[in-house]
Amino acid sequence: MNCPACQHPESKVLETRATGDALKRRRQCLQCNHRFTTHERVERKLPLVVKREGRREPFDHDKVVEGVRLACRKRPVDARTIDELASRVEVKVSLSVAPEVTSAEIGELVLAELAAVDIVAYVRFASVLRGIEGPDDLLQLLRPYLGAAGPGGVVDGGGQGD
Ligand SMILES: [Zn+2]
Repeated sequence: MNCPACQHPESKVLETRATGDALKRRRQCLQCNHRFTTHERVERKLPLVVKREGRREPFDHDKVVEGVRLACRKRPVDARTIDELASRVEVKVSLSVAPEVTSAEIGELVLAELAAVDIVAYVRFASVLRGIEGPDDLLQLLRPYLGAAGPGGVVDGGGQGD
C-alpha cells in the first residue's frame, strides 16, 4: 500500500483496530510521515452452489435465512439467531476446498445447525430437504435427539408476528 501523499511503498502501523470482520490500521509513511488509514478484510472465496437443475449461482446468505425462517415459522426463534445460523453455514461453505457445493449439501449443513436451535424447525426443514414418508423416517430423524433436554437457549424470542 503506497503512501497516498508521496507514493512511498513503506509505512509503519501506528494502531490496529478490529471493526466487525475488518481490521482498520492507522499508518504513517516512512518517507514523508503522512498518516493514512487502511482497511483489511478477509477474502472469503465461496464455492458456487449447484442447484438441483444443474444451474450454478453464488452462495446467497439471504436465501439460507429465508429457508430457515420458513422452517421457524411460529417457533420461538428470533431473527438474530437465524441470521447467525446462516453465517455459520456460510463460514462452513467458505472453508470447503471444493470449487462447487450442491444446494442439498448446504441444506444438510443448515439442518445440522437447526437441530441445535429448534427441533420442530429441524423436522420441518428435513421434511422439505429429504422428504419424510412416514413415522419411520420421522423416528430416524429424531432418534439422535430423543430424551435430550432440548436446546433451552432461546428464551427471549421476542415473538415477532410473521
Ligand atoms: Zn509519504
